[in-house]
Amino acid sequence: MKQSTLSTVLTTSDHLPVASQSKPPPHTYLDKRVTKSQRGTKRTRSQRARERLQTKEHLVGLARELHEGELADKLDRCHSRLSVLTCGRHIARIIPNFTCEFRLCPDCGRRRSRKLQTKYLPPMKAFMLYNKVTPVHLVLTQTHRKESRKESIARIRNSFTKLTRRSFWKQYFKGGTWSLESTKDKNGLHHTHLHIIGFRRKFFDIDLLRDEWFAVTGDSHVLHLKPILDLAAGLQEVVKYVSKPLDIRRFGAADLKEFLGLKNMRMFGTFGEFRDFCKGFEPSDNNDAMSELESLARDLVEGCACPQCSAPLFDLRLSKSELPQFYEQIESSPPGKAGTSWN
Ligand SMILES: [Zn+2]
Ligand SMILES: [Zn+2]
Repeated sequence: MKQSTLSTVLTTSDHLPVASQSKPPPHTYLDKRVTKSQRGTKRTRSQRARERLQTKEHLVGLARELHEGELADKLDRCHSRLSVLTCGRHIARIIPNFTCEFRLCPDCGRRRSRKLQTKYLPPMKAFMLYNKVTPVHLVLTQTHRKESRKESIARIRNSFTKLTRRSFWKQYFKGGTWSLESTKDKNGLHHTHLHIIGFRRKFFDIDLLRDEWFAVTGDSHVLHLKPILDLAAGLQEVVKYVSKPLDIRRFGAADLKEFLGLKNMRMFGTFGEFRDFCKGFEPSDNNDAMSELESLARDLVEGCACPQCSAPLFDLRLSKSELPQFYEQIESSPPGKAGTSWN
């Protein structure tokens, strides 16, 4: 799967219109300072699978500490046994024995973000074509205050709602999606960001947007804006925060307790005209690459040809701790045959 998602190179469409007199330096338009999470360190599938395993063990431990036995058991059972449809070199499909659907579960989070990608990519494409808008990835940040996670999240969402009601915003954006990312630093301060895919009607000066953001937050003008050149990859980048909105591995029991108190905290949503568009959107047919891939995978059974190398598929039963090892085995298989874009 492609790692590079949002290009840091300016496209011609992101320069000022020719009519404009003074042309400020490009850095005005493209803020290269990105948040740590956006740098996206490239890890292998086996490493990621191992990390999910560790995150989950950590969560189970915290749940037990809080005497949340039911939650701990559910998390423990989730994805504990797997049916892996494989040719030995590629993985066509993984079916877990049980999914806990707990919002901090890394395995269920991954499934959720895949579902969101499948759901939102087709209407996004249609929305862009229909309205002649271009997508940008906008990261909104706020100053750090001594406050609870709940307060920090409420504060940034509030500011964003105010922003979308301003005439500047309405003039340049036609809606989009948002997702939340919330981390905590060593001093216990929450860093909450909003990752937005905004559908831009026309080019604007980013300094104006900074001023607008400052006007609604009262103290923050830090934001990052990058054009999205590949919509599927850009969406994947943004929904990534749905699978790991919080830095769970740095969680203590108190953090989990706080999270459990945040009922119905939404991590992803749509806004503006795009929200209404989604309500009425019905995909014309399944010509979208991702859903095609998924429905194909659904139909595969033991004995079918591997979609990547045509070797026969077989059903391999693995325990959760064996999955990282299996990925490792695949990663070390001969070049050209390794890897899978199916899971
Ligand atoms: Zn789960
Ligand atoms: Zn294969």
